[in-house]
Amino acid sequence: MPAHDVLILGAGLAGQRAALAAAEAGASVAIMSKVHPVRSHSVAAAGGINAAINPADDWRSHAYDTVKGSDFIGDQDAIEVMCREAPHEVMHLEHIGVTFHRNETGQMDLRAFGGASMKRTAYVADITGQAILHVLYEQLMKHHETVDRYEEWFTTHLLQDESGAVSGCIARDIRTGELAEFTAKNVILATGGVGQAFKPTTNGLICTGDGIAQAYRLGAPLMDMEMVQYHPTCLVENGFLITEGARGEGAHLLNADGERFMEKYAPNKMELASRDVVSRAEQTEINEGRGVGPGGVGIYLDVTVVPRKRTLEALREIVNIGKDFAGVDITREPILIRPGQHYIMGGVKTDVDGATPIEGLYAAGEVACVSVHGGNRLGANSLLDTLIFGRRAGEHAAARAASMPMPTAVGQARLNDEQTMIDGIIGRPKTGRRISEIKDDLGTEMNENVAVFRTQDGLEHALDVVRRLKEEAKTAYVDDKGTVFNQDVLGALELGYMLDCAECTVVGAIERKESRGAQFRVDYPDRNDEEWQKHITLSRNGDDIPHVAYSPVTITQWQPEERKY
Ligand SMILES: Cc1cc2nc3c(=O)[nH]c(=O)nc-3n(C[C@H](O)[C@H](O)[C@H](O)COP(=O)(O)OP(=O)(O)OC[C@H]3O[C@@H](n4cnc5c(N)ncnc54)[C@H](O)[C@@H]3O)c2cc1C
Repeated sequence: MPAHDVLILGAGLAGQRAALAAAEAGASVAIMSKVHPVRSHSVAAAGGINAAINPADDWRSHAYDTVKGSDFIGDQDAIEVMCREAPHEVMHLEHIGVTFHRNETGQMDLRAFGGASMKRTAYVADITGQAILHVLYEQLMKHHETVDRYEEWFTTHLLQDESGAVSGCIARDIRTGELAEFTAKNVILATGGVGQAFKPTTNGLICTGDGIAQAYRLGAPLMDMEMVQYHPTCLVENGFLITEGARGEGAHLLNADGERFMEKYAPNKMELASRDVVSRAEQTEINEGRGVGPGGVGIYLDVTVVPRKRTLEALREIVNIGKDFAGVDITREPILIRPGQHYIMGGVKTDVDGATPIEGLYAAGEVACVSVHGGNRLGANSLLDTLIFGRRAGEHAAARAASMPMPTAVGQARLNDEQTMIDGIIGRPKTGRRISEIKDDLGTEMNENVAVFRTQDGLEHALDVVRRLKEEAKTAYVDDKGTVFNQDVLGALELGYMLDCAECTVVGAIERKESRGAQFRVDYPDRNDEEWQKHITLSRNGDDIPHVAYSPVTITQWQPEERKY
């Protein structure tokens, strides 16, 4: 039975960066992923990664932009750490082989991104996530003697010792259906976000909130769960992302009257205001009858104003996406987009070393909430978050491991219980509903009532629906009764995770009676610093409902002020 100093669940950018840092610190490491590591969702990241690399820039400017982007609810100590360490991390990536785009003078090129006061986004065309993920995976190979890889293994449960400290996990080998126990001194969750609880979403099928829900079920507090990012430019047809890099290169947003309507909402930053502001502006145009396309449900993104040569060089993937998924050549005509679910700012509450309040449990990347994004994440700050806090979590966990004994394995009886739970799902009669139907209902409801504009009635409706679906999920049946690549049974587990996350999101959104960042309450349209300049945390406390508490926002040097772009 495997035993390691540091067990990392998830092999996207956060997980791989954590693994490298822990291995370099001398720890024995295991990294586990339900898909092959380079198919982790980080591979989809397109536009780039932020760092104040330009000598005319300063990390404090990056930090201020991030604080303002967060609508003054991001924790400024964590934001300072992230922005201060960003240039070194990006240069490190380049030194280990990431082929960042260079300008005509041979220096690293930087592109404009939303909410940033200057160009500070390093990029590899519009495949930045893929480029970084592959280089990190190469680097992991160097550590093959101390890093064990468990690829296509699905974590089903976190384990705790008698003191409550996390001591490993149970996981299922997807290829065979075999269950195994993994003992570890520390576990780092790097399992990504939960976009699949919404329909449509820019997120891949694997983004089902597994780590968030597993930590929550253990009693770990979740934070900022009400803050869900709707990205301004998603294809109307299917929710696919058109990177913010397009607007960074100069693309315009146009309504049915051909107006660059952002002039009304953000006269200084125009299309490059922060995402919450642009998405709300688009949705307002659509709701007020100035949308375009069939039913007026979209907005035009006009990339034709960017020189064609530049588009083909720096935005080549979205040229392909436009052609393949909307039948539009974006170099010659505008493309129909609208706001779509993209990212969650919330997650498992951690400190700046990735430590959660549960001993031995860390989290980094989209699963975590440090909170560097607060009410709204700036584009190109997520890749940075995964790498900075992935590394810090890996280092911290390795240091903790050096001074403690290996926990005792929980043994076969616990594995038998887990097998009974899985057999129970496989054996369900066909009297319940299909998992895919329940998931569909969940995504549709969340997109209807927990989206850009929210109301008390809509949120209460969403809570009723989520709770009903939670009941229905208990009897949902699976068709595949086998052991080899039984994605059906894993789908049942993932559905449970998504429902727990969705419930926390809705409860948080009902609780926050103000508008801030991504949470816009039509019934409370103003930001209310006096009452709501605080984080909402949600914990399960032994039963099956989220309990609300609050935690203070850390302010170091930037006092809340009116937010205008
Ligand atoms: C289309 C798109 C474009 C984006 N572009 C950008 C960009 O340009 N810049 C930017 O900063 N951000 C961007 N983002 C956001 C960013 O890509 C993600 O937030 C980030 O990559 C998340 O990385 P992660 O390591 O936290 O998780 P992921 O990369 O999602 O990895 C999660 C890992 O956990 C594993 N896992 C999950 N559950 C289990 C389980 N039960 N058992 C075992 N393994 C499990 C998965 O297999 C995977 O390895 C984009 C997002 C999308 C959707």
